[in-house]
Amino acid sequence: MVASGRRPDRLATDGGEFARLLAENERYTESFDRSALTPAPLSGLAIVACMDARLDVEEALGLRTGDAHIIRNAGGIATDDVVRSLIVSQQLLGTDEIVVIGHTGCGLLGVDEDGLRDRLAAASGRRLDIGFGSFDDLEASVHRSVERLRTHPWLKRVPVHGLVFDVTTGRLLEVD
Ligand code: ZN
Repeated sequence: MVASGRRPDRLATDGGEFARLLAENERYTESFDRSALTPAPLSGLAIVACMDARLDVEEALGLRTGDAHIIRNAGGIATDDVVRSLIVSQQLLGTDEIVVIGHTGCGLLGVDEDGLRDRLAAASGRRLDIGFGSFDDLEASVHRSVERLRTHPWLKRVPVHGLVFDVTTGRLLEVD
């Protein structure tokens, strides 16, 4: 008997995957040797990247635990919340360089935002004025984020780079 309104098959899937995560963590603690790290990233880097599962930021850039702040969201867009995190990163934890990473085949490429809002409104009975950051031109989207971070009055004037990750080759292309 399922008490909530969730589908039984979904519950079974969630439970299995979540249990696997906890088991993996148990293994992780056995060789964990990073307890001496401080909160300030060793490389001085703050990275803003899309949440896409195919983009492993640490692997693609050769970063290890403790090296960089990695701020991720759908699209790798420089939203207000990304700016908030970067202010903390710069002012309290000393980072002094930013890298923005978009990627080919992004889920936000060409999304029909009106259609998505309509669908959510129909399902929930509530209409909200939320933007999703969709774009038609990947490089232009990266460029917009880079420009916002270069010019935001509360961010330091540090180097800001724009990269595009190719999900088919793993290569990063410098676009800004
Ligand atoms: Zn993406």
